Amino acid sequence: MSLEDQLAFDRENIWHPYTSLLDPLPVYPVESASGTRIRLADGRELIDGMSSWWAVIHGYNHPVLNRALLEQTQKAAHVMFGGLTHEPAVELARLLIQLTPAGLDKVFFSDSGSVAVEVALKMALQYQQSRGKASKNRFLSLKRGYHGDTFGAMSVCDPDTGMHRLFSGFLPQNLFAPAPECAFEHECTPECFHEIEELISTHRRKLAALILEPVVQGAGGMRIYSPKYLAGLRRLCTNYDILLIADEIATGFGRTGKMFACEHASISPDILCLGKALTGGYMSQAATLCTSEVAETICRGNPGVFMHGPTFMANPLACSVALASIGLLKDSNWKDRVLKIQEQLRSELAPADDLPDVRRVRTLGAIGVLEMESRVPTAGLQRMFVREGVWIRPFLNLIYIMPPYVIQPGDLSRLTSAMLKAAREIRNLL
Ligand SMILES: *Cc1c(COP(=O)(O)O)cnc(C)c1O
Repeated sequence: MSLEDQLAFDRENIWHPYTSLLDPLPVYPVESASGTRIRLADGRELIDGMSSWWAVIHGYNHPVLNRALLEQTQKAAHVMFGGLTHEPAVELARLLIQLTPAGLDKVFFSDSGSVAVEVALKMALQYQQSRGKASKNRFLSLKRGYHGDTFGAMSVCDPDTGMHRLFSGFLPQNLFAPAPECAFEHECTPECFHEIEELISTHRRKLAALILEPVVQGAGGMRIYSPKYLAGLRRLCTNYDILLIADEIATGFGRTGKMFACEHASISPDILCLGKALTGGYMSQAATLCTSEVAETICRGNPGVFMHGPTFMANPLACSVALASIGLLKDSNWKDRVLKIQEQLRSELAPADDLPDVRRVRTLGAIGVLEMESRVPTAGLQRMFVREGVWIRPFLNLIYIMPPYVIQPGDLSRLTSAMLKAAREIRNLL
């Protein structure tokens, strides 16, 4: 099929994320990707600012990850996980238990982030049921949170920017606390917790768990909040006997400058969701970890098992490439790299603070965000970025990047200059 025919077919027949098939946004055909470069079919090369949605932390087409996949293909691309097990799954689970905050030592593998969240919610519900607290069957989450697109996950996403209204007759009814307002450096006083503590205390008999994205709220608004606030919420959960679910699908594996964002607050959740960068962006895989207390309580109850089992659970290819990706991360000086990216983002995005259309600049680890005063024209900005030779995909009122950790300073400067240019010229695009 010619390139034109491919694009026409794509426009006519294939859904892209959150788009119309009557009036789709333009898409750019990719020929290949290598390191921090995405090569388009017309030969243009774009510097990657997105890590393909937090996932591709080591860059594209990485020889070590390629080899891990190829070698596993020679052994077994897939076997069912019911009644069978394999070394890649065992080694990966061992590594995840070692790497994640203390106390999380039971692992459930699934095939995407949203499913990992469904699994976490289910674990919390089965846990409460097993201890004779079946009425604890609602969740509390934070406004501006994002936890995925499946129904359980949607029901704990931000009630205004999420899809609650669209599916209101079908979605489980949960509770929402105000979005965290304390900035990263904020020390937090008892007042910070007043509203959420009231909510928790009023509804504690029906709350199974609090679910949140630790320190960085991603797709719900790219907001960064104080680790002190997170630590306070951990204490509240313990005091009021509700579980804490940390969704580290976006923040995990070094993105915020710590291996996991929970480490900023030195806390352990009861349940932890991982995904996105787990396989270095090679395959769709996710994991939900929980404490022995949660796992054993579930299994002592009725029906005595945890009720979930995806077809591609612990897929050997995905486990092998995840092992290789985490190996690469551990052997690299990722912390230095991410902190250097953070420094450079802070200094190069600082001038945006003075631009009239920029409301706020936010940076943490390898995340740089310009929050604009109003919604940005995605298609127009996209064209501008491609002309500038960079791949940055804005949404809502956010122009943001989270580049692969291997990005070189010169390339990062091209990303930040393009962001500043966009912020300066946005009026002409509206
Ligand atoms: C992306 C994301 C999800 C959903 O993961 P999918 O793999 O897209 O299903 C859930 N939670 C957070 C915090 C995410 O960033």
